[in-house]
Formats: sequence, structure tokens, C-alpha cells
Amino acid sequence: MSLPARCQAIVFDPTDRSLRLRELPMRPLRPGEVLVRVRLSAICGSDLHTIRGRRDPGGPLVLGHEIVGEVAALGEGVEADCLGEPLAVGDRITWAIAASCGRCFFCTRGIPQKCVTLFKYGHQKLDSLTPLSGGFAEYCYLVPGSAYYRLPDELPDAIAVFANCSLSTMQAAARLADVRPGESVLVQGAGLVGLCAMALSAHRRARSIVVVDPCEARVRQAAHFGASHTIGVDLPGDELVAELSEATECGRGFDVAIEACGVPSVVRDGIAALRIGGRYVLAGCVFPDATAQLDLHTLTTKLLTLQGLHNYTPLDLQEALRFLTDGPQRFAFGSVVREVFPLEEIDAALALMESDPSVLRVALRP
Ligand SMILES: [Zn+2]
Ligand SMILES: [Zn+2]
Repeated sequence: MSLPARCQAIVFDPTDRSLRLRELPMRPLRPGEVLVRVRLSAICGSDLHTIRGRRDPGGPLVLGHEIVGEVAALGEGVEADCLGEPLAVGDRITWAIAASCGRCFFCTRGIPQKCVTLFKYGHQKLDSLTPLSGGFAEYCYLVPGSAYYRLPDELPDAIAVFANCSLSTMQAAARLADVRPGESVLVQGAGLVGLCAMALSAHRRARSIVVVDPCEARVRQAAHFGASHTIGVDLPGDELVAELSEATECGRGFDVAIEACGVPSVVRDGIAALRIGGRYVLAGCVFPDATAQLDLHTLTTKLLTLQGLHNYTPLDLQEALRFLTDGPQRFAFGSVVREVFPLEEIDAALALMESDPSVLRVALRP
């Protein structure tokens, strides 16, 4: 298959926050790389943060990291995906957001998402050394150290597309929190991340899954993702905690809480709502100056475990894909991507996303 010399991509420039459709040069494929033709790329909340200037990407770049593509060419030495499944041109794949070296201090300690030579899709500055690596483009180069997986035919693009971000991150959260059968789980935030946390907790047979989000429209969707109890009002802290406790066995408090909303002030409620010996995973505050006042007396005397989470490991993506293949039919994952736009209509896609809080994802199809 002959590849084009140039391809279309949306370049985001942080200096004027512009998004421009441009023709960028393609370079030959190097050993160990995979060239992917992008089939679908969803716009993540973090892309929106960057586009609206709440996060500085450090220079012009091609955004988009929630991607499903098909193999356009295999570099020398690449024959299989990360599970050893043979890979061929035309195969549909998705891949972990971060590529890592596998040898450095952090990689050898089980946190490859903090690799010292980390390469992050949809986050790399555009320069002459970096290949195209964002989803808002026709093509994407997968560099050595990437974790890519062939997708089963029965898994549609529109569901597989968010597996490598929200779902994998919450798979990591459920793993770190060790959600067990019969347990109670509090999920703070009913965006896609929170909905994924609920579905995975339900899949792990948690008994009671309670979600809190001040936005009614978002909370309404939670019942379709495994929530057993929803709270869609903005209650003052004490009243909220009292209502939350009622939803747990003997009012004892939750076994697990997962912060999935990126609102620092909710951490106080999460700590208050946990039972003695409870586990708390914090995943949403991935921006600077996310500070909150903590009640250290409660934290200490309730013997709580607090765990921060940022991204995930390839094993979490593997698990997330297995979950999507094995039977999440009872969850409404098919309704996550509300609408698909061509690259040149990214402004309309962003407008839809920002106009309606119940829109979980919109996607671009180059
Ligand atoms: Zn994302
Ligand atoms: Zn490394």
C-alpha cells in the first residue's frame, strides 16, 4: 500500500488558541513503528481544557488521544500486537495513551505512565523530530514502546474509542481501590469517567454504587451505567454526607470512594463519607493549583487509604478491552458518542460538547 506524502491534521496553537486544518508532511516509517489511519477520535474533556487555555501544552500540537485506527503500515520487526495476536494492514486497533521505555526507574516499578522518556499521544509538541501522534489527523505514528491491541470485530469504533482514556483510567482506579463483591462504592462525578467507574464497580459486583453530581442531566444517565442510587443536587457538605451515609449498610460509610470530577472541594465529603478503613482513589484533579483543606484527624483516626491516580498501565487497557468485549451490554456505552463530525467541523463538535452537559463525547472522523 502506498502512503501519501502529506496528510490533513488539525493543529492547535496555544498562543492564539486557534485550531487550523493543515496539510502536514508524512515521514517514512521507522523500525518498530506502526502507521495508523485514524478511523475515529473522540474529544476528551482534557482536550477541551487545553483548547480553552486551562492547560498549557507548551507549543503547537495535534490533539486527540482517544483513538481507534486501522493499521496502514507496519514498521520493520512489528508482527503482532501486545497480546501476541498477529497484526496485519487493515486491522482495527487502539493503544495506550502513553508509550514507555520499559527499563527506567518508573517503568520497572509498575508505573510506566511516568516513564522518564514518556511519549503521550495527543500531547506531543509538533516539531521536526516528533511524528504525527494525535487523533485529530488522518494518520498517527505509533512509536516503539506503544501498547496496541487488535480490536474484536464485534466491538464498534464508537465504543472502543474511549477505552484508552476514561475506561482504562477507571479500570486502574477499581484495581487500586480493590473494589470487591458486596462492597459499597461512592463515585463523585457523573461525567464519562464517573460512569465508567460505576460500570466497572457493578461488573466487580459491588452491591451499592452511589453517584453524586450537581448536574441533573448527567446524574440521570447514571442508572444506565450501574448506579444503584443517585444524588443530583448540590447539598451543603454535612447534609450531603448524611444522605450518603444512609445509602450504606448500617450507615457505616462507604468501603470505597472514587473522585472522578476534578473538583478539589469534594475530597472533604469523600473522606467524611468513607467507613473506617475505607479506600479513596483521587483521579480527577489533573490540573495545577488543585488544592483542598483536609481533615487530617478524620483521615488518621479512620485509618483511611488515599491513593492518587494518573493515567494507567497497558494491563489496565487490556482489562478494559476485555470488559467491553465480555459483556457490558447492560450498560449504555453505545450512547456515549453523541455525534461524529469531519475534521473541518471541529468547531461545531466543540460547540455541541459545551452546550449540553449530558453530552459525554463527540468524535471526529478524518
Ligand atoms: Zn481522554
Ligand atoms: Zn521508562
